[in-house]
Amino acid sequence: MVTTATEPSAQTDGFHLFVDALKLNHIDTIYGVVGIPVTDLARLAQASGIRYLGFRHEQSAGNAAAITGYLTQRPGICLTVSAPGFLNGLVALANATTNCFPMILVSGSSDRAIVDLQQGDYEELDQMNAAKPYAKAAYRVNRPEDIGIAVARAIRTAVSGRPGGVYLDLPADVLRTAIDAQTGAQSLVRIVDPAPRQLPAPDAIERALDLLRHAQRPLVILGKGAAYAQADDTLRTFVERTGAPFLPMSMAKGLLRDDHPQSAASARSFVLEQADVVMLIGARLNWLLGHGKAPQWSPSAKFIQLDVCPTEIDSNRPIAAPVIGDIRSSVASLVARIEQGDVRPDPAWLDAIAQRKTANAQKMAARLAAPSEPMGFYSALRAVRDVLADRPDVYVVNEGANTLDIARNVIDMIAPRKRLDAGTWGVMGIGMGYAIGAAVQSGNPVVAIEGDSAFGFSGMELETICRYRLPVTVVVFNNGGIYRGDDVNRAGGTDTAPTVLMKTAHYEKLIEAFGGAGYHVTSPDSLAGALREALESRAPALINCVIDPATGTESGHLKNLNPQSAVKPHGA
Ligand code: ADP
Ligand code: MG
Repeated sequence: MVTTATEPSAQTDGFHLFVDALKLNHIDTIYGVVGIPVTDLARLAQASGIRYLGFRHEQSAGNAAAITGYLTQRPGICLTVSAPGFLNGLVALANATTNCFPMILVSGSSDRAIVDLQQGDYEELDQMNAAKPYAKAAYRVNRPEDIGIAVARAIRTAVSGRPGGVYLDLPADVLRTAIDAQTGAQSLVRIVDPAPRQLPAPDAIERALDLLRHAQRPLVILGKGAAYAQADDTLRTFVERTGAPFLPMSMAKGLLRDDHPQSAASARSFVLEQADVVMLIGARLNWLLGHGKAPQWSPSAKFIQLDVCPTEIDSNRPIAAPVIGDIRSSVASLVARIEQGDVRPDPAWLDAIAQRKTANAQKMAARLAAPSEPMGFYSALRAVRDVLADRPDVYVVNEGANTLDIARNVIDMIAPRKRLDAGTWGVMGIGMGYAIGAAVQSGNPVVAIEGDSAFGFSGMELETICRYRLPVTVVVFNNGGIYRGDDVNRAGGTDTAPTVLMKTAHYEKLIEAFGGAGYHVTSPDSLAGALREALESRAPALINCVIDPATGTESGHLKNLNPQSAVKPHGA
């Protein structure tokens, strides 16, 4: 008979050992989709007091786990079935790894003897090796008595150093194998200090401060590594003591409020081009920052980089002052060694930034005042912005092309880690998974601002949102297409152009099917009213926000990344 591992002289098995290992390490939530061979694992977890949230697609469950990891510094757990379920979850695991979010994808797998000889088992796949290129690490458990150490290893790998995604393979026969309960209990591992502090070297701190003290035109860039570190007060103290302008990367918005006087967000291209000393705090010089190169950046600018990962340094451009350590420790060391007035930005630099900000604020005001029927992105987002202006509790999830680019600029963030978006990959499909993860983890309301195309990738999770009655409001920016909805099929015929979606789609009826509140709005006032009502209700809602199909630009702000044919097609 199988009983719990705590009863001596009894037996336990892989299912119980896995659940016990999670509980021992304070993991309280699993996101997943059940089926062979993990159904009983979810059942048992639930019976043991772990919250299990069942999804409609593994990718969304994985995204919920990943964002939980980002928000809590503890790995989010995603549970899937073998082969296809695993592969569906793998996209989320890869995205988590790319974004440095700690998560563990746990998948059941088929009989290893058959899989390895490729004899055609049910859902046959060598999952561990398939996961390796897309994860920080991939492990397989081959004996039930190894489950404890495997869970410990997976957790530590996910959260220590640079956080990332870990794959843990649980073959069906390991789950079902019974062993002596006492042996099992003794095999479990309670992890001590899963993400040890990594203190920066004192000389690295001095080198960085020396560079900053000699700067005329310093600039601080805050990335989501800084947000992840949860060192908000120390970080603010540091930035304020430097008096330097700062730029938040999209998910670092709100670490210092977007209306902070030192924010240079609305003078972004100017400060990138002109800064002479740039301090990167938990941000990589990847495509989102033009790889640190001209024309966006001055070739003579010197860089300071704070990161937990030593091999990030010099990855795109030479770094004059690397500071390797966890952001919390590194920023604390900087604060201990800096006084107000140590860094003296040239007043002309600050004036020039202030002038740009004023000019750009005027341009933005003009865009926001654009005619409101039919709505465009700006008039609609103005309404959303006004409703969210005094709601620091609300999480904002955001994906799409124009919907992402424009919302990022229009919607100010006033609290840390409240903006969750397409991130390092610029990926579509994170919307409902992130929204559910944030709502479950925090209990706070979530507003997911979604392009109509982006929403489609995870739209079926509306049922999940309604089943768990989560305080999630989805706003679908419906312009009837990818980028925009007015392209034509250049060959004539009845098929739509590749970018076109259904203009007449009533997305609000999808949520009504599951008992949520649907709204169909065509003006900023009705949008604001619907959003207020939905937030007040703290219940699932979807606002189908109809905007002009002719609004939006191809590839949003990434036009330069979208190669276009030099030769016109027939019929163009
Ligand atoms: P963004 O997209 O916001 O610019 P990135 O994801 O490019 O941010 O960069 C985040 C960086 O932060 C990564 O290089 C990662 O190694 C680093 N990082 C993540 N967590 C920490 C931490 N706790 N301490 C120090 N660095 C961190
Ligand atoms: Mg669209």
